[in-house]
Amino acid sequence: MKKGRTAVVVALSCGALAWGASRLASAPSAARWPEDGALVAAAPVVFPAGFGRHRIYLDAGHGAEGNSGNRSSLCRDEQDFTMSLAEDLAQQLEQSGHFEVKLSRQPGVLVAYRDRVQEADQWGAAAFLSLHSDVRGRPEQWSPQPGVRCSRNRTAPGFSVLWSDEGGAELTGRRLKLARSLAFHCGQTGLTAYDGGEYRELYGSDDQQAGVFVDRHDPAKRIFVLRQPTMPSVIVETHNAWDDREARRWEQSSIREAFGVAVSAALVELLRSP
Ligand SMILES: [Zn+2]
Repeated sequence: MKKGRTAVVVALSCGALAWGASRLASAPSAARWPEDGALVAAAPVVFPAGFGRHRIYLDAGHGAEGNSGNRSSLCRDEQDFTMSLAEDLAQQLEQSGHFEVKLSRQPGVLVAYRDRVQEADQWGAAAFLSLHSDVRGRPEQWSPQPGVRCSRNRTAPGFSVLWSDEGGAELTGRRLKLARSLAFHCGQTGLTAYDGGEYRELYGSDDQQAGVFVDRHDPAKRIFVLRQPTMPSVIVETHNAWDDREARRWEQSSIREAFGVAVSAALVELLRSP
């Protein structure tokens, strides 16, 4: 994230759910994420009978006035990465026939965070998912290609899912369900959860699900998109943008498709009837 935190809302929840993603990631593999040989994959989600079609607000993090986010190890602005990922994810979710997706912004158009939250509410979104990448560790300078230099650090890879416990019990409970479910299903694909080493006092580790963290910023600095939406919302920090291995892999369609399965599975768990 960094530089003007945007909210990402992702809905996922753990539980006995009828989704058909296989445990492909548990197949023997010598390589570990984010090395190239590490397998990341999932079978398509099986939607429960009568699940219907749900509105999902997909926030491409940053892309607001004076807020382009971090600059990755590949010298790419975070706002461009999140826009690209949001477009791919929206297409995948809509192709299932079970989700109607609204993107928070379009390429080249700046949108204030407050307007995004308001739009999601007025549209009647069932969940708000905000996409970001982190930057972690002490960076070194390097050149991913001739003529450009940017930061790199390979010590702190992995995804994290952020949520807020601020608000009423029903809404915060559903946020947590979404956060845990999303982290669980991301882990099932073979993606690795960040251990939270640098989050320290700013985010609290969840005691039940690796990769889940609750916002512990001072009240005045808590993340807008985590506490403000009226529907369950989460932020997904997909990876450490300063880790060039992760940054490259998140450009691969296979990684994005597996992530889309994880998001779908989590949304099914959140939105299916009891
Ligand atoms: Zn960000």
